[in-house]
Amino acid sequence: MSPISQAENTVCIIPAGGMGSRMGLPLPKQLLPFNGEPLIAHVVRMFKNSVSEIVVATPRAHMDAFKNALGNSCTLVEGGSTRFESVYNGYQACSLKNGDLVIIHDAARPFLDISTLKEALSLTREKGAVVYGSQAIDTIKEVNSEGVVQRTLDRTRIYQAQTPQIFQAELLKHCYKTVFSSESAKKIELTDEASMAEKCGYSVHIYNSSPENRKITLREDLKLLQKSQQRIGHGYDVHRFDTGRPLVLCGINVPEGPGLLGHSDADVAIHALIDAILGACGMGDIGRHFPDTDPAYRGISSAVLLSRVLEKVHQKAFQLINIDLTIQAQIPKLSPYIEAMTSNLAKHLNLQQDCVNIKATTTEGLGFVGEKQGIAAHSVVLVEKGVLYE
Ligand code: MG
Repeated sequence: MSPISQAENTVCIIPAGGMGSRMGLPLPKQLLPFNGEPLIAHVVRMFKNSVSEIVVATPRAHMDAFKNALGNSCTLVEGGSTRFESVYNGYQACSLKNGDLVIIHDAARPFLDISTLKEALSLTREKGAVVYGSQAIDTIKEVNSEGVVQRTLDRTRIYQAQTPQIFQAELLKHCYKTVFSSESAKKIELTDEASMAEKCGYSVHIYNSSPENRKITLREDLKLLQKSQQRIGHGYDVHRFDTGRPLVLCGINVPEGPGLLGHSDADVAIHALIDAILGACGMGDIGRHFPDTDPAYRGISSAVLLSRVLEKVHQKAFQLINIDLTIQAQIPKLSPYIEAMTSNLAKHLNLQQDCVNIKATTTEGLGFVGEKQGIAAHSVVLVEKGVLYE
């Protein structure tokens, strides 16, 4: 390698040219939300303080969406028809000199432990070409075209290649020159730059990485992006007794009564639950969605309102994880009905029974509940914000 002539620059190229078509998504997976920002913005920010320049190769059809997501944080170039072409487009946009280092990192690999980069860069200065890789965990079998095992490989020597892949700029330059000047080399299936360096005769060194540095590739991987997207909500409601009405709690008739006064069926437990769900999803409260001035809701079953709320939160990609509900009633005795209430809510919420917990308590004769003026209910729910494309 040529001696370093001036201060070294480190450039990061992020190929984001793919359209997510393998996942059947309406937009590139790099624009999916992750921890409150588009995935690509997270990945760019991850490298921001470690490199001097970041170049993102972007699908032409979504250039504006990427500009919105990334602002001035990096240089955008048009992606190619393959990952290899996208990286090359990014490479051409960089002004590199001997001694610089080039990092190539997948746009859909957001779980990299960035604190490892310093050591990997140092290894690249010494070795020329470095690829992150995690040692195989499962036993690896090689099979023939009929699927018959031919041999078992020594897994201590098998690594799954990841990114970053890091190169001394002059080595990468030489590889591209070799590939593009040779007709036969062009035909070699080049899935990544480490393979190119190998084909060009360079030794590529593994930087021992974690399996957690995985790539979002399959549709089920989208669940990985939902990390830290759990949210909690609380709801509280009170209704006064009205002896002229039936008592409905959690959608179950409690014949002992007395009933509760209200515009709807006055199911105070479901009202508290609805407020908890709406609270967790940042969607206001029951009165905002179903005003008690609207005759459409006169006498309506609160279980119907609950179904409508669930539809609304599903549209915003929220799923319930579990609920807890406490009903405060001095009368009637509710313990005989808890099981039926639990089953009924589990059915409405499409949750397992052990994710629906209902408790009833008196208030030892204290307060308005203790004085048998009405019933109160508290609820807490946990929801998970998913992606809208499932
Ligand atoms: Mg109410």
